[in-house]
Amino acid sequence: MFDKILIANRGEIALRVIRACREMGIQSVAVHSTADADAMHVRMADEAVCIGPNSSTDSYLNFPAIIAACEVTGAQAIHPGYGFLSENAAFVQIVEDHGLTFIGPSAEHIRQMGDKITAKETAQRLGIPIVPGSDGGVPDVAAAKKAAADMGYPVIIKATAGGGGRGMKVALNESELETSFRTARSEAKSNFGNDEVYMEKYLQKPRHIEVQVFGDGQGGGVHLGERDCSLQRRHQKVFEEAPGPSISAEERARIGGICANAIAEMGYKGAGTVEFLYEDGEFFFIEMNTRLQVEHPVTEAIFGQDLVREQILVASGQKLSFTQDELKVNGHAIEVRINAEKLPNFSPCPGRITQYHAPGGLGVRMDSALYDGYSIPPYYDSLIGKLIVHGRDRPEALARLQRALGELIVDGIETTVPLFNMLLQEKDVQTGDYNIHWLEKWLEANLG
Ligand code: ADP
Repeated sequence: MFDKILIANRGEIALRVIRACREMGIQSVAVHSTADADAMHVRMADEAVCIGPNSSTDSYLNFPAIIAACEVTGAQAIHPGYGFLSENAAFVQIVEDHGLTFIGPSAEHIRQMGDKITAKETAQRLGIPIVPGSDGGVPDVAAAKKAAADMGYPVIIKATAGGGGRGMKVALNESELETSFRTARSEAKSNFGNDEVYMEKYLQKPRHIEVQVFGDGQGGGVHLGERDCSLQRRHQKVFEEAPGPSISAEERARIGGICANAIAEMGYKGAGTVEFLYEDGEFFFIEMNTRLQVEHPVTEAIFGQDLVREQILVASGQKLSFTQDELKVNGHAIEVRINAEKLPNFSPCPGRITQYHAPGGLGVRMDSALYDGYSIPPYYDSLIGKLIVHGRDRPEALARLQRALGELIVDGIETTVPLFNMLLQEKDVQTGDYNIHWLEKWLEANLG
């Protein structure tokens, strides 16, 4: 087991990893930009190293500075959190070349799943059902027209190197295709430095269902059920729950089993998420994320397992600490993502927190790096906290969420808390009857 782990991240996820390290008796090293000198992860870690100026390109994404911080502090492993370097195969390679351990899958698996076309081909080969689409990349408008005619409209054009819900364009019919295709390509180029795009059938009313998987890289693979993350704004999740309100125990075992077998067969090491769109009882693979997800706490709640601890165990060469049979769903959990954003436009709202009070009580978990007097810097993501509630069933979790939101105090800035208070009044949210388009429509009708 490692003596010391460096966390190449900031905010709530850096705290999350420090907590796991402390419980395991492992020393933690925080890295930070100059803007984050007063951040909570810097205070909570055993050691801290400044790795560069405000811009994340020069700090949290700065390979040499992070490797040097490991050498200076004697950290043997790097936990990347989510975002930043968590799915950067080139970084993983460099980490390994320096004799350090990356807490996550191999560079090869990250590369394989990071390219969405290769990911779909791999998924299909491993028996995972995929969404109908083009055969690989689509080079030009003529090819796009042909692919669309074959699969039928509407279609969605996506960047091969895409992520974060960006660079996707829908074409409802042939007259929209040319413009959508060209825009998708130029956005892919400017966002991801690679203009290759591919096409899929655009599903009209699916849910976003994702399966949490874990592998030990030694032939072991399990699943920890699914999360429903259908409530999205601009393809980004805002409200996540587990188990999925529309998924039966039989469906969970079936799709989970398929994913767990695939992971075992790949020899995949660490945490991963297999994402699907789910419509009329059918699952369609869209992508696999080769890292810990923002929404992992809802899975931790219902399975009573510490996923970060498991990542560290597996990275140190141990086998999985649980078998599939030991993993049982207990109750229902919901997470809401609290952002420093001002409604109705969700404009970023960094600034000084004059007062902060986290909710508590039975079944309530607040993952946040906020504190009284903290100034949220304007340079990074607007996520300032995740409120996770766990109840014996969905109605109890919903009631607990409402109660906990009422206890939360974040003064000095605007947040997305009012959005959740409003959503909880909606019948469709109360009954779990929504798909990936529900929130956009609701926002247009209620805040538009
Ligand atoms: P990213 O990696 O950018 O997050 P994904 O492929 O995971 O991209 O897709 C993100 C979201 O975009 C999905 O959760 C869904 O809301 C929407 N989406 C993606 N593919 C399709 C599709 N074929 N039909 C309908 N919606 C889609």
